[in-house]
Amino acid sequence: RAKEMGKNNYVMYDSNMEHRFFEKLTFEQQLRQAIRQNEFELYYQPQYSLCTQEIIGLEALIRWNHPKFGLIMPNDIIPLAEELGIATLLGDFVLQKACEQLSHWKECGLQPVKVAINLSPQDFLSHTIVEKVQHSLNQSKIEPKFLELEITESMAMDVSNAISIMKELNQIGVQIAIDDFGKGFSSLNYLKNFPIQRLKIDRSFVNDILANQNDAKIINAIIHLAHTLNLEVIAEGVETKEQAEFLSSLKCDEAQGYFYGKPMPLSDIEKLLFKWE
Ligand code: C2E
Ligand code: MG
Ligand code: MG
Ligand code: MG
Repeated sequence: RAKEMGKNNYVMYDSNMEHRFFEKLTFEQQLRQAIRQNEFELYYQPQYSLCTQEIIGLEALIRWNHPKFGLIMPNDIIPLAEELGIATLLGDFVLQKACEQLSHWKECGLQPVKVAINLSPQDFLSHTIVEKVQHSLNQSKIEPKFLELEITESMAMDVSNAISIMKELNQIGVQIAIDDFGKGFSSLNYLKNFPIQRLKIDRSFVNDILANQNDAKIINAIIHLAHTLNLEVIAEGVETKEQAEFLSSLKCDEAQGYFYGKPMPLSDIEKLLFKWE
């Protein structure tokens, strides 16, 4: 929907460059205004230990409460923002918001919980990402180990300095996870050089884990690979008890998905985390 909004406003321009210029201008203006007017919100999805069945972390997922169009999902925002080169507007917001939330919970004296945020390629590869993360941690005074950054394989393999960025982020003390693992073209040779803590198995493998022998074998192999490299492994998109049990039997460490809980607004995740009413 965001895509349509951006485009429809300037369909009368036929010059491609001009079109793109105005598309960018309007969408950028809309994003900036929406950020100012607090229309963006973080939803949180719980992540569970398959061993203890306890919540071990949360993934923050962005939502846009649009005054006209209602709830807009990330897939209708992020790819366009990336295409237009303005994804860091959102990345900066998410980083700051997640740190503020962690800081608020800390001030309330609550049991700390880890929060993972998703980075766009533009967030991750911008030369200021390390400074930005450090700045947000300083501002919020939270322990770095409670912040996790999710990047994709392709982002990690993209440029030669990706590994040095990861190393710097590791030195700060934040965690790094590879999101949607197995979906891209995973080069295992790369993987061994990544200074990361966690692999998130893409939900396309988890989907059919009970029906498709090959998916089950692939997941089994990923779990072994992860453990060999001393990485934790979490399965995404776990929708049934049977999937959770099967993953547990394969020694998968953690799980995330509708079976455990959908991404939810702050007030709901607080009820779940702190048994608040
Ligand atoms: P992701 O990081 O892989 O996040 C998981 C997505 O799978 C979320 O969709 C979540 O709602 C969905 N999901 C979780 N459990 C289940 C399940 O059991 N079944 C199914 N079918 N789906 C499940 P969402 O929130 O729509 O986000 C989609 C993608 O948009 C994310 O995929 C992530 O790549 C991106 N994204 C979301 N928030 C942000 C953000 O703040 N910044 C950036 N750069 N990207 C974001
Ligand atoms: Mg993610
Ligand atoms: Mg994912
Ligand atoms: Mg993703």
